[in-house]
Parts: sequence; C-alpha cells; structure tokens
Amino acid sequence: EPPRYDVVVIGSGGAGLAAAIQASDHDARVLIIEKMPTIGGNTIKASVGMNAAETRFQKLKGIADSKELFYQETLKGGKHKNNPALLHRFVENAPEAIEWLADRGIVLNDITITGGMSIDRTHRPADRSAVGGFLISGLVRNINQREIDVMMDTDVSEILMENGAVSGLRVVNDENETQTVYTKSIVMASGGFSANQEMVVKYRPDLAGFVTTNHPGATGSGIALLEHIGAGTVDMGEIQIHPTVEQTTSYLISEAIRGGGAILVNQKGERFFNEMETRDKVSAQIIGLPEKYAYIVFDEQVRMNNKAADEYISRGFVISADNPRALADKLGMDMHAFLATLERYNLFVEKQDDEDFGRKTALRHPINQGPFYAIRIAPGVHHTMGGVTINTNTEVLDANQRVIPGAYAAGEVVGGIHGGNRIGGNAVADIIIFGTMAGRNAASWARR
Ligand code: ADP
Repeated sequence: EPPRYDVVVIGSGGAGLAAAIQASDHDARVLIIEKMPTIGGNTIKASVGMNAAETRFQKLKGIADSKELFYQETLKGGKHKNNPALLHRFVENAPEAIEWLADRGIVLNDITITGGMSIDRTHRPADRSAVGGFLISGLVRNINQREIDVMMDTDVSEILMENGAVSGLRVVNDENETQTVYTKSIVMASGGFSANQEMVVKYRPDLAGFVTTNHPGATGSGIALLEHIGAGTVDMGEIQIHPTVEQTTSYLISEAIRGGGAILVNQKGERFFNEMETRDKVSAQIIGLPEKYAYIVFDEQVRMNNKAADEYISRGFVISADNPRALADKLGMDMHAFLATLERYNLFVEKQDDEDFGRKTALRHPINQGPFYAIRIAPGVHHTMGGVTINTNTEVLDANQRVIPGAYAAGEVVGGIHGGNRIGGNAVADIIIFGTMAGRNAASWARR
C-alpha cells in the first residue's frame, strides 16, 4: 500500500524546508523528497543575507526604511520586468517572514547592504556569518522537532493527476527502485537550473563555458515536471551571472565583502566601476576588461566584519600582504597605480563622495589597515530568474493563467519575481516568504 500524505514537498532547500515546517504547523502530514544525498540545496551556499524593509531589527538599529523604496529598488534592479503583483506580495510579506524565522530560533538581526539597494536591509546572523548554513541548520532543527518525514537520494520522475488535480508522485531512489506516493498537494521547491549547462546555453548561448556557483542538483528538473502537467513558464532567458566568483574553485565571493567596504581593481591596479551597482552591470564591466577578470581588494577591517573572509583565506585563494606595495607586487600590478587607487578611494571615503564612479553606499572606511587582501574573480552563472508561473497565493498556473489544483511552487523554480536581474539578498527573502505561503496554502488545500 503506497504511503499517503497531505503535502509532499519536492526539494530540501530553503523554500522546501520552510514550506514543510509551515504545512506541518497547519496540521498537514508532510513528506520532503530530496534527490541529492545532502539537505540544503543551493540555499546552503547563500552568502549575504535576507532582504526586508520595515523590520523590527531595522528599527532597533535606527535604520529608517520603507517597503515602497524596497519595491522600487527591486523593480529598478530587475529592469522593470518583475511581475508587479508577485513583487508587491514579496515586499509586503518580508518583515513577517523575518519574524517567522525568529519565532523558530533563526534570528537574523545584523544588517548589511547589497548592490542596487540604498539602505541597509540585508538581514544576517548576529555573528555576521554566511546566511545559508545558519538558515539550513535552523530549519533542519525545526524539521526534526516536528518529526517530518524526509526521503533522501530520491528523485521525482512524474507528477500524477486525477480529475485535473494533483494526486501523487512517481519517485525513484538511488537504487533505481520506483515507488508511488499519494498526496493531496505538492509544493515544488526544486530550485533553479544554473548547474544545467545545456539548459543555460539553450536560453543564453553567450553563457557557454561560464563556471557556475551552484550545487550540482540545480538542474531545473522541477520545471520540466510541472511543464508536463501544463504549467506555464516565464523569463526563461533571464539568467544572472554573479560578478565575483573565484574561478579555480567556482567559489562565490559574497557581496557582503563589497558591502563591508571592499573595492574592485583591474590588472592595471585601477578601479573601473561602482562596485555597489547591480550584479548584471558589475559583471558586464568585468567581462568588458581586456583581461576579463578583476581583483576584489580589502583590508583587515573588512575581514574582521565578515566571517566569510576567513573561510576564503582558509580555502587558500586569498593573496595577502602586510602592505599595499607588497600586495601590488604579488598581483603583478603597477605599484604606483595601485597606491594611487587606494589613496584616491580613501579620500572619497573621507569625503563620502566617489567622484570617479559615483559609489553611494558602503564607503565604510579607508582601506588602510594591514594585512591587505586580494582575490582574483570573474563572473559565473549564479541564478535563474525565470521559471514556472504562479499567482500571489503560490498556486501553479498553466499557460492560460488557470490554477492547476493541488500544485504549489516556491523559490528559484518560480519565475517572475526578480524580473531581469535578482538583487543580492532577495533570493533568501523569496524562499522564506513564498515557501511559508506555499506550505500553508498546500495544507489548507489538503484539508478542504
Ligand atoms: P530554493 O532556493 O528555491 O529553496 P534550492 O536550490 O536551495 O532551491 O533547493 C532545491 C532542492 O531541490 C535541491 O536540494 C535539489 O537537489 C532538489 N531537487 C531538485 N529537483 C528535484 C527532484 N526532481 N526531486 C527531488 N529533489 C529535487
């Protein structure tokens, strides 16, 4: 006799875990299915934090922000291609998503900034560590407390339908055994397709040969599964490259490093752009350099304020030196040009006015405290903005905008929220806001 559930969640990233916890808290019998041998999906690699405006934690720090400004800056960053209804829901529900996490022991009360935003609204753990590991371990703790069932190493091969509504799934485990699971609803939380080279290049031939920051499970299979039951898709060609990826390890250098005061310099030792611009624009500038790479340069003060920096150092790809001269030497840069760059940038920090590139945020402190650090970076495929269509209740829509009964989706598998470019810190917000919503709505559909 096949197992029966109220809600089956496909994917154990942030969206899936949040959906499962919320469905369980709304009295549903829940199963999580994960195709990889590990929990956490790509979310576990999330670095900078979770954006939200008008939160309790911002108020505690005296940060004046507004949902309207958050909306406008996300829309501008997304090149005005964002779905307005989804984006409104996103901005509106962000503060309660921060509280939803805090209520479950996942407190994000330190706040920083990312490219394209004008205000500190990126919430992260108090110890300023990367958000992903902290978030996943906190969510897993909640999954365990609720004794929610999890099937690992299990891939979904088909969504079963009965009378036009979702009725179950066909799943295959790592020993190639097929099984049926009956369920009244599903939450598709299978993430994006950045690690599927073929699919990326199909939509964006110009990205052939780019490294990806994503985990190997980011293959986009959830999109195909939903398309098979009629789901529509949107913005499939909108694929984000992240500007600061260490190329030998495909390791992402968090935007929090620039947000903490780092700069970008080219091989000549010169700054070339506003480091706090959106990811698409910064990436385009790096690709436009003759050498097609750049260095992210920072000092001891930046390192002290970002735990991630220590991880980069331990991974062995950070070039460091006691003073700027020695650093320039190690980077094979013209020493005078590099020293002049630092001197000029430090002057801009003092005046809080970047005369060269108009950087308006994160002119935090002069880069003048040794040791000095540099990481060689270039862009990599990072986030797929496109995906399946949903309404503002996370119900999956078919190509004619009609709801597919019993099918919910949340997280990177969904398209439309981020438009043409996702702002740093908005993916974690997306998965918690829409993940919890999908879990609650799937539970109430199952109870109907
Ligand atoms: P999000 O950020 O939207 O939560 P993540 O990438 O963090 O997305 O997590 C998605 C998870 O879904 C990954 O762990 C991935 O391995 C898993 N996954 C993807 N496709 C399937 C599938 N067909 N069956 C089961 N799990 C899947």
